Amino acid sequence: MPDDSDRVEPPELDPNEVLYVDDDRFAADNVAIVTGAASGIGRATAFALAANGLTVVGTDVDEAGLDGTAERVADCDLDGRVATVAADLTDADEIAALVDAAADEGTVKYLANVAGLQHVDPIEAFPAERFDRLQDVMVRAPFLLAKECLPHMRASEDGTGCVGNMASVHGHYVTSDKVAYNVAKFGIRGLTQSIAAEGDGSVRSFSVSTGYVKTPLVTDQIPDTAEQRGISVDEVVEDVMLGQSRASEMMTPLEVGNLFVFGFSKHAGHLNGGDLTVDGGMTLTYE
Ligand code: NAD
Repeated sequence: MPDDSDRVEPPELDPNEVLYVDDDRFAADNVAIVTGAASGIGRATAFALAANGLTVVGTDVDEAGLDGTAERVADCDLDGRVATVAADLTDADEIAALVDAAADEGTVKYLANVAGLQHVDPIEAFPAERFDRLQDVMVRAPFLLAKECLPHMRASEDGTGCVGNMASVHGHYVTSDKVAYNVAKFGIRGLTQSIAAEGDGSVRSFSVSTGYVKTPLVTDQIPDTAEQRGISVDEVVEDVMLGQSRASEMMTPLEVGNLFVFGFSKHAGHLNGGDLTVDGGMTLTYE
């Protein structure tokens, strides 16, 4: 039996895989708030930004997961650090308290909206409360966080800041039975462009769109999908996950975190309202 465990296991976060950018603003007195920081892409984004010397305020509802993120960061002796603040993004008061706590750690300059969730059902059977919950976490919370963070960015010494939003290939085209997710990912691109419009070039915004990423959300489903369809784990990865892309491996969470590092950096000064579509050709090629 071939060992395919590395195809389904999210890799351990490794400082050697981080994109390092020499940027004066990537300093300990500047704060990056990262949502969804207990797991997957949010955890990797928190890790990559802390590795670049920023003070990260990582937030999530999953407190044990946040502890895991903080432990991994501490183990790797990174230049920056991660402070954790538990919050439920469906609660506006908790969002306000989170931004206040972040402002106590330094100057809030960056916001990475990564937290998300999925629900799969056809439109006729889609529970309206699940639809609302997905919008609350993936569109309303990013809006509320931007609303709370923009004044801090504008009041900072040089008046700059940046909001990075996790979109998806589902913010470009859609698949069946994911109506709330599709609507939310198109919505987050609208929020991104709205922040760019009102940021006057000083506060920038961008979104990130990837295909399937090796996170627990995705990899946990692979063995079950293989069993259900009577195919191998390799076939699930190659045909189901990567079928429409030109990539042979799924993206790692840190590869996505690195896109946030680039997007926040001085090298992305003209990235404003735009989307970093890094999907292995999934949405841009056809067979
Ligand atoms: P994940 O499940 O590993 O992490 C999502 C995190 O969001 C979890 O830690 C969860 O606790 C948190 N969260 C959910 N509801 C919350 C709430 N009410 N308050 C606070 N935190 C909450 O998922 P992931 O794969 O890392 O996905 C992160 C983001 O990336 C999502 O927006 C997802 O849509 C997007 N994305 C993922 C993939 C992929 O293949 N994994 C691809 C494209 C886009």
